[in-house]
Amino acid sequence: FNTLRLILGDQLNPAHSWYKDKKTNTLYVIAELKQETSYVKHHIQKICAFFCAMENFATALNQAGFNVLHLTLNETCNDEDLPALLTRIAAQHQCNTIEYQYPDEYRLKTQLAHFANTSPLTVSRVDSEHFLLPFEEIKHRFIKDKHITMEHFYRAMRKQFNILMDSNKPHGGKWNFDSNNRNKFSAADLAQIPPPKLFNNDVSAIIARLNKHNVSYFGKAAEQLPWPTTRKQAISCLDYFCLYLLPHFGQFQDAMTEQSKHNSSLYHSRLSFALNAKLIHPLFVIKRVIAQYEQRPNDISIAQVEGFVRQILGWREYVRAIYWINMPDYATKNQLKAKNTLPPYFWHAKTKMNCMHHALCESLTTAYAHHIQRLMVIGNFCLLTAINPDDVDAWYLGVYIDAIEWVEMPNTRGMSQFADDGIIATKPYAASGNYINKMSDYCKNCHYKVKQKVGDDACPFNSLYWHFMHTHRAKLEKNPRIGMVYKNWDKQENTLQQSTLQQATYYLNNIASL
Ligand code: FAD
Ligand code: SF4
Repeated sequence: FNTLRLILGDQLNPAHSWYKDKKTNTLYVIAELKQETSYVKHHIQKICAFFCAMENFATALNQAGFNVLHLTLNETCNDEDLPALLTRIAAQHQCNTIEYQYPDEYRLKTQLAHFANTSPLTVSRVDSEHFLLPFEEIKHRFIKDKHITMEHFYRAMRKQFNILMDSNKPHGGKWNFDSNNRNKFSAADLAQIPPPKLFNNDVSAIIARLNKHNVSYFGKAAEQLPWPTTRKQAISCLDYFCLYLLPHFGQFQDAMTEQSKHNSSLYHSRLSFALNAKLIHPLFVIKRVIAQYEQRPNDISIAQVEGFVRQILGWREYVRAIYWINMPDYATKNQLKAKNTLPPYFWHAKTKMNCMHHALCESLTTAYAHHIQRLMVIGNFCLLTAINPDDVDAWYLGVYIDAIEWVEMPNTRGMSQFADDGIIATKPYAASGNYINKMSDYCKNCHYKVKQKVGDDACPFNSLYWHFMHTHRAKLEKNPRIGMVYKNWDKQENTLQQSTLQQATYYLNNIASL
């Protein structure tokens, strides 16, 4: 072989131009590597999903007639890292050129750039051909350390890609139908939620390999992995979503329920892993969803479709741009100087807070929680209790099936922890128990009383919320989106204010036993 082409675990894009013609002198290499299992401690289902999807991709390429070397941990355990592996395989197969696709993580980008600069081989890089916004465009649309409004970016993307547009006007007369999408589940709604689309990918051999090579992991293993790990499964997951879930996607987008123990994804698509591993292209997903809306106008309303398109065309592309324009500094941001460590229930979900118990339990058993559980329950709790964003990032990066740093970090450190000085969010996503009670049924079976701020059984989110607002008053008070909060606080009796702050201090000092 002349050329070695490296395929990273999240570059399983079958439509890439690399695969337009079969070059007999090219060897494609796809490898399970210890360095990819250990940069953070991972949920076992996340490692299994990537390794399984990589194996399936290698098989598909092989069947299509490409020369593929798929290496498992058994074959790579003596390679110190990715550059060592590339050097060894290139020498073994007498390749003088190495090509790779632009990695989406700063860690890998730096590692491969260093390899390219120091290797005696010719090393070159190509686009991964996945995102809609070309990498080179990011610096023209975003500014380091500056807040760029997601909504403006999203509208520009709608126009640029002609998505849900009637000539130059937004389809349906509005850009954003979010206000139609704030429902909580009634008992009747709960009975209607379709089951999630699950797959049975046998990953027992992968689990055995992880154990054999002493890979450290956490979370519940699933020998029959339910996540889509082939392009075919990804499309079938998308079709199931369009058929059964899209008609109510937006309507219940923010709703949470304790009845969902076996179906934490509710009306959500479960497509994030397939998208982030690049098994499926964002534009393919968007077009399929819009085609369904056009074919079934009585079933699917514009509010549902627009809400979904916004997540992929808007948020997903936006957070990637924020990541790249701000890295590497973004990874060290901690504007609120949060220093606490994660309490032990992040690893076993045993807490008396019912909302946290359910969100953590679903995360640990399924490697998934939906957006509002991530943002307004777990993230909100970490924000209010001043957990160090490094610890919060590491937990989120490890636990979720879809967690890759480019998307995990802006969402976690930025959106949920407000550690980035407002680059993503113009105000912190801080909320008391009232919000959780409004959007879920968690509070009615909780040990704590959601209406109480002080007292033995007072909901911790209440006093912690006021403590957070009080602590950061100098920074937040000037924010016009927050002003009313301080007016409400100032109206409270001084004795109530003091007892609320004392209650919060007690909870912070006893965080492990909440
Ligand atoms: P759906 O609700 O069906 O949404 C459809 C798709 O839209 C998702 O698959 C995803 O690709 C995209 N999307 C939706 N919201 C966002 C967003 N805020 N940012 C980027 N893409 C979005 N998403 C990840 O892919 N990886 C992460 O590591 C990740 N970490 C997060 C951490 C926090 C604190 C928060 C608040 C959100 C995080 N998200 C992350 C975004 C979002 O929660 C997940 O994409 C979503 O829950 C995945 O489930 P789904 O595919 O069923 O999504
Ligand atoms: Fe969570 Fe408070 Fe409601 Fe309990 S009462 S579920 S702790 S918000």
